[in-house]
Amino acid sequence: MTLPFPNDPAMREALSERLRFYRELGIGEFYRRPVDEAAWTQAEPEPQLEEARVAAPPEPVRREIPAAAAPPVRNAAIFSSQIEESLIAPRKPFPAPPPQAAALPPEQHFAALKLIREEIGDCTRCDLSKGRNKIVFGDGHPEAKLFFVGEGPGADEDAQGLPFVGRGGQLLNNMINAMGLKREDVYIANVVKCRPPANRTPEPDEAHTCSPFLFRQIDVVRPQVIVALGQTAVTYLTGEKKPLSAWRGTVHPLRGTKLIVTYHPAFLLRDPNQKKHAWADLQIAMRELGLTAPARK
Ligand code: SF4
Repeated sequence: MTLPFPNDPAMREALSERLRFYRELGIGEFYRRPVDEAAWTQAEPEPQLEEARVAAPPEPVRREIPAAAAPPVRNAAIFSSQIEESLIAPRKPFPAPPPQAAALPPEQHFAALKLIREEIGDCTRCDLSKGRNKIVFGDGHPEAKLFFVGEGPGADEDAQGLPFVGRGGQLLNNMINAMGLKREDVYIANVVKCRPPANRTPEPDEAHTCSPFLFRQIDVVRPQVIVALGQTAVTYLTGEKKPLSAWRGTVHPLRGTKLIVTYHPAFLLRDPNQKKHAWADLQIAMRELGLTAPARK
């Protein structure tokens, strides 16, 4: 049986969001596995009421309350053993991030980043290489005090080879300016350096293959504060899968720096009401950096 897919774009987007959420939780098979049609459509057999009334003696009045029976699970078919395993079995542990490299003198940061880029080369270490146009290494000041980490390149980034240059990038620039900084003052990189097909979330093996380069960039730049933009960024930076709400609002130690977590700009474009909460997160970063917001003109 194929479940109907809604035609309404808003409903499609909402459904896609929900599927992404399930996928984030690691239960992707929930929506990939075919549903057993019989389990959804089989009608309960109709009781032969009249026959039962004639044949059966009248029921004695019972005063004790019967134990509640578990309600029938009509969609039990989709809870396959695979899903149960993914819910019950412990998650596969994340590979340990590379050990933190020794700090370099500031004048060597630029050359060290160049060396990492050369090492990546025309990378084919993971399947994301198959669909990319340009590797999006990272961009910004090699001695930045503030380092933003996103998920992966989108279409604009893939075309230009630069992180956060589309609509989300414009919003990130506005966020940086609101903090009293310029884009050239900060460093920006992603968990994966090649665009995932159709902007999907990177698969764990892709993120684990690429993220060591990100850790090395962080170790070279040595920012005071890292701002993780969204769930994927914080998950692969920390190796812990928790809801974004569990990360936000607090400063977390990470590789000798301070990690602050906020929403991804793409999410803020979809839900502008969350901008005020993102601003609250950025104010934590500003406090840690000793920054004050510029006066409004
Ligand atoms: S995403 Fe990273 S590891 Fe995968 S091909 Fe691109 S640069 Fe290489």
